[in-house]
Amino acid sequence: MNQRLHELMNWLKQENIDSAFITSTENVFYLSGFRSDPHERLLGIAVFQEAEPFLICPSLDVNDAKATGWEYEVIGCSDTDNPWDTLEKNMKSRVTNIHTMALEKEHVIVERYEQLINRFEGTKFIAAEEKLRQLRLIKNEKEKELLKKAAEFADFAVQTGVSEIKEGKTELDIIAAIEYELKKKGISEMSFSTMVLTGANAASPHGNPGLTKIKKGDFVLFDLGVVYEGYCSDITRTVAYDHFNEEQEKIYNTVLKAEIEAINATKPGVQAKDLDNIARNIITEAGYGQYFPHRLGHGLGIGVHEYPSVTNTNELIIQEGMVFTIEPGIYVPNVAGVRIEDDVFVTKDGVEILTAFPKELQIIK
Ligand code: MN
Ligand code: MN
Repeated sequence: MNQRLHELMNWLKQENIDSAFITSTENVFYLSGFRSDPHERLLGIAVFQEAEPFLICPSLDVNDAKATGWEYEVIGCSDTDNPWDTLEKNMKSRVTNIHTMALEKEHVIVERYEQLINRFEGTKFIAAEEKLRQLRLIKNEKEKELLKKAAEFADFAVQTGVSEIKEGKTELDIIAAIEYELKKKGISEMSFSTMVLTGANAASPHGNPGLTKIKKGDFVLFDLGVVYEGYCSDITRTVAYDHFNEEQEKIYNTVLKAEIEAINATKPGVQAKDLDNIARNIITEAGYGQYFPHRLGHGLGIGVHEYPSVTNTNELIIQEGMVFTIEPGIYVPNVAGVRIEDDVFVTKDGVEILTAFPKELQIIK
C-alpha cells in the first residue's frame, strides 16, 4: 500500500474516525498520484480504517486514473448517473454504519455538504485538513527533485522575460513571450497567473499586469512559477531598465539583504517567526517597515501556497524536508516596488536554494 494512504488510515484508527472522503484535487493527487481537474463533476477518494479505499471519478477519467498506478478500485460515474448515490452505495458497502467522516471542510461547498448530510444521516463530519497538511509538510527525495526541476523552469522563465525587456513593450507582451517559450519546453501550466509589473505597478504586491509600457528608469518585477509533474515553483526577481536612482537602489539592496539574511538563518530548530523577524527588522531599520505588508513566505509543494506559513507569529519549528519561499518586499507607492523570492529546501543543517537566477541588482540596457 502507498505510504501516504497508509498514514491517513492510521490516523483514522488513532482518532477512531470511520471514514474520510477527500475531494480537493491537490489531496487526491497527493494520495493517489492522479492529478485531474473534474470541474463540477465529482472526484474523490474514500478511505476507511480497515476496508479497502476507492477512487470515484467521472467515467471519462477512469482509464487515466488507473494508469497512475492507483492499486484499488476506481469507480466511474457517467454524466447521467447521480455520483452521490454511487458514493453512498460504495461507502456503505464497506462500512455499514459510518458514524464519523473526515472531510476537507475548507473545500467542500454547501451544495456537496447537503448531498452528504442527506445520505449519511447522523454522521459527524470532522476536519481532515490539518492531518493532510502535516503529511504534506515534509517532502521526500522524489518530491524535492520535482520541486527543483520546477524551480529550474522558473529560472528559465525569468531569464526569458529579462531578455524580452525593450522600450515600448508592455507587461503582457513579456508574459506572452515567457509562456510561449515555456510551452515549447513542455510546460503546460503556470502555478499562478504570471506577473510582470513595471514602474508604479510594481509597487503593488499583487498587481494586475496589463498594457503598461516599460520605460527607462523603471523597475520591472517578475513573479511567476510553473507546475512540473504536479509540483510548483514560485520565484520573484526585480530588475532595472536602463538606469535606477539612489532611492530605488536603497530599496533594492535592503530587500536583498533581508532576503539573504533570512535564508542564511534557515535551518532545522529555528522557529518560522524568527526568520520573518530577521527580514522584517532589516527592512524596519532601513525605514521601510510599513512598506513590507505581507509575511516572509509560504510552503510550496503540490500547492503554490501550503504549509508552513512563515509569519512573525508562527512558532512552528523548522524541520529538515520542509520547502518554502522566502520573499521579503518593499512597496513604496510612486517610488518603487521590489520583491526578491527564492524557494528553499531545508537540509539537516541549513538550506538548499532551489531557485538560482542571480539576484544582484541588474541593469537591463
Ligand atoms: Mn511569488
Ligand atoms: Mn510566493
